[in-house]
Amino acid sequence: MNGPRKYPTEIQTHPNREPWPLVWRRQLPGKDTCGLCDSAEHAIYLKLKEPRMDTFHYLIHEMLHCIEADYSFEIDHRVIYQLQEPLAQMIILNLPAFLQICHGKNGI
Ligand SMILES: [Zn+2]
Repeated sequence: MNGPRKYPTEIQTHPNREPWPLVWRRQLPGKDTCGLCDSAEHAIYLKLKEPRMDTFHYLIHEMLHCIEADYSFEIDHRVIYQLQEPLAQMIILNLPAFLQICHGKNGI
């Protein structure tokens, strides 16, 4: 069951691959599990009602698994844990700059 509309419903890591549905659940298998990437089912599961920044870190973690699937290479799971917070911070701290560069709003 997907959460209310205020939660995003899909995410994409490759422009030519199917988006990954985001499935929001009150509980996930395993008591400490807050995120899950099911590559067989092609879906990301996230736990509802976790702190926002934690949820964003879990999302980045699961998206790195999507990258493994969409780009056909493996990332050591320790590296995924090491990257989840720095990548989340990098995105948050630079989002306007990224959009400026990618969309060329200022003629870059
Ligand atoms: Zn993982």
